[in-house]
Amino acid sequence: MALENYFFHYIRKYNRSYPYFNFLHENNFKKIITSKIDKLIKIGDDIDTKYKKKKYIFSFDDGLKDHLFASNILKKKNILGIFFINTVPIIEKKILNVHKLHLIFGRFKSEEIIKELYSIESINLENIKIPSSKRYQLENALDKDHINKIKLKVFLNQNKNFFLINKLFNFFFSKLTQKKILEKFYLSRDDIIDIDRKGMIIGGHSHSHKLLSSLSFKDQNKEIKKNINYLSKILKKKIDFFASPWGNKKSYNTNTIKILKKNVKYHFTTLQNKVLENNYEIPRINCNKLKYGKIFNYKKNDK
Ligand SMILES: [Zn+2]
Repeated sequence: MALENYFFHYIRKYNRSYPYFNFLHENNFKKIITSKIDKLIKIGDDIDTKYKKKKYIFSFDDGLKDHLFASNILKKKNILGIFFINTVPIIEKKILNVHKLHLIFGRFKSEEIIKELYSIESINLENIKIPSSKRYQLENALDKDHINKIKLKVFLNQNKNFFLINKLFNFFFSKLTQKKILEKFYLSRDDIIDIDRKGMIIGGHSHSHKLLSSLSFKDQNKEIKKNINYLSKILKKKIDFFASPWGNKKSYNTNTIKILKKNVKYHFTTLQNKVLENNYEIPRINCNKLKYGKIFNYKKNDK
């Protein structure tokens, strides 16, 4: 594949119940599409052709309900998109840990979260080192609260502290609220079928969005196969596309590639290199690098 790849997550409107949520505004997504319309490859175009001029393809991670909107915009303009789906929310009706953090941080101020966290475990925010990959977020932080949240997120993820994340999530969101969130947050089985019928590509993103590199060969195999087998079953076609969760160099390993070579044709990462010959480590760029791709600024923008 010789296309330039960009990936997207949340694309939505401002929601006052989640005042601090990080997302790309729907209007800006439309602007991106309009401004890049000539470069985006169309439904039915061959993705392996080496086009004379640089061509783009956009992909959408995590099977978010937001991607119904995105796929509708793409369909209207006859543009091809790739949608990478996790299957835990659909099969097991569970919210993914990675999203539990976004929901907590999107709804509450850092001081409220820290207060609750302290009651479980004592942490010192000043001691948390931010990896270089997160520096972009830090530089673009809107205020002190935002900076604290970036640090908290690093802390909760670094320790792979599912126990703490779940404890916090269950404290801040009642079981009933969690049930309501689940339905509105993720694409349903029928939504995925609908996006496929629009001519878009559906790919796997693992069953439960775990760090694949932290799992044994056997467990990685399960995470990948369960995911693509389900998608293949509901769409009645082979799944050829997969994106590793997070997708950076540390998020997958040689076992991942071995399993993927047996099962799919393309593996998408978030590596930043420009080498496009290897279909099992396809680089992708964050949409925030595009003009209009910045996260919504709740301090500056009109709500
Ligand atoms: Zn993801």
